[in-house]
Amino acid sequence: MSTAAAPARTLLERAAGEDAVREGTAADAVGGLVPAAVVSPVDEAAVAAVCSAAHRAGLALVVRGAGTRQGWGRTPRRCDAVLDTSRLRGVVEHAPGDLVCTVRAGTPLDELREVLAAAPGHRQWLPLDPPQPGAQTVGGLVATAAAGPLRVRYGTARDLVIGARFVLGDGTVGHSGGRVVKNVAGYDVTRLLVGSLGTLAVITEVTVRLHPLPPASRSLLLERASPARLAALSDLLRTAPVVLSAADVCWPDATARLRVDGTEEAVDEQAAALAGLTGARVLDGAEAEALDAALAVRPWRGEGAVAGLAVPRTRLAELLELASAYAVEMVVRAPLGVAEARLPERPEVVAQLRAAVERLGGHLVLHRGGPGLAGVALPAGDGPEVALMRALKRSLDPAGVLAPGRALGDEETA
Ligand SMILES: Cc1cc2nc3c(=O)[nH]c(=O)nc-3n(C[C@H](O)[C@H](O)[C@H](O)COP(=O)(O)OP(=O)(O)OC[C@H]3O[C@@H](n4cnc5c(N)ncnc54)[C@H](O)[C@@H]3O)c2cc1C
Repeated sequence: MSTAAAPARTLLERAAGEDAVREGTAADAVGGLVPAAVVSPVDEAAVAAVCSAAHRAGLALVVRGAGTRQGWGRTPRRCDAVLDTSRLRGVVEHAPGDLVCTVRAGTPLDELREVLAAAPGHRQWLPLDPPQPGAQTVGGLVATAAAGPLRVRYGTARDLVIGARFVLGDGTVGHSGGRVVKNVAGYDVTRLLVGSLGTLAVITEVTVRLHPLPPASRSLLLERASPARLAALSDLLRTAPVVLSAADVCWPDATARLRVDGTEEAVDEQAAALAGLTGARVLDGAEAEALDAALAVRPWRGEGAVAGLAVPRTRLAELLELASAYAVEMVVRAPLGVAEARLPERPEVVAQLRAAVERLGGHLVLHRGGPGLAGVALPAGDGPEVALMRALKRSLDPAGVLAPGRALGDEETA
């Protein structure tokens, strides 16, 4: 251990116990910053003790779930220690009658799914479908607001998380929302934490709204469609008498995948209606499964930067023209106008695409990108939303203990 690392490690050992702390290694680095220590608190009280000690000593902590998305946001200015949530694990309470479940933040999503599936007499699930089965934690999902194709029907973590417990940078323990669906009074801190990238608080526990697991599902595929045809399809879907679970337009493939979930009878009826309306082909079970698996990792699998985009949903055709000009590939959740694009790792490409998307009335945020793209990770920060974000950071974490600079770079302290 280096001498500089010793004080941080000793402080954290005193706060969380010796067995909860180890030396940081290159494998723990966040954006090239190797932490002096990795601390894995055993419970929420230990998280609070760690934050309080870090606050007093002026240490910067970066929260880590499974560590799959530490690259999101800007690189923090400092990372003295990684706060690993892997021991904050397990389901606290599953109330199937209320379709609600409370789970510790370090629980892997797959573990939660298994617990829910094993509940006798109930078939329930949390319909969030980011890829990497098994890896991502519930806390990481909430902190990144990560979502997949199913957001078309079920929304993102912002729609499904109804309560949270958390620890602020100075060690204060807080909670917001609760274990019933209608339970918002005062500030809705829970939703503030969704997408906060570990910069406002350490999430220790979340309460989520569940849905009944649909017994059947059908997928349809439309192939070799022009941007104009795909845009027309997207318009048509808005008024079609079906409840879509997913509607992904893929580019440059020029395809659309539609999916409906429900009872066997209902999905057959809806699939037939959709096929008649759109000309898409109903897939058999094996084809649908293969397509689901392929779509789950797009556009993340493969080299390059990954950006999240949103445009008014009437601008789909123009968005696909932009995809042809700038992106390696793009997947659009068509009814919502939100998309993810894989781009060449070049700052000018990101900047040009962002400018073009903004001209369409939308915006672009970079999710994945090497250090060369740090300057274009987020839109330029002079709008009122930046002032609001800065004020929130200052009121919840004034000492900058949690991932300082990750959300706003130097704007945070400007
Ligand atoms: C191949 C691949 C494909 C992907 N596809 C998609 C996709 O299609 N759509 C999509 O939305 N995402 C996608 N992702 C992103 C990924 O699925 C999620 O971002 C992931 O769920 C993050 O969870 P994690 O536990 O690994 O978090 P980590 O990477 O450990 O942390 C992510 C962020 O959350 C913070 N954090 C973690 N736990 C807590 C906590 N308890 N309290 C406070 N802050 C915390 C961290 O500080 C960090 O800022 C993809 C990722 C990969 C690798």
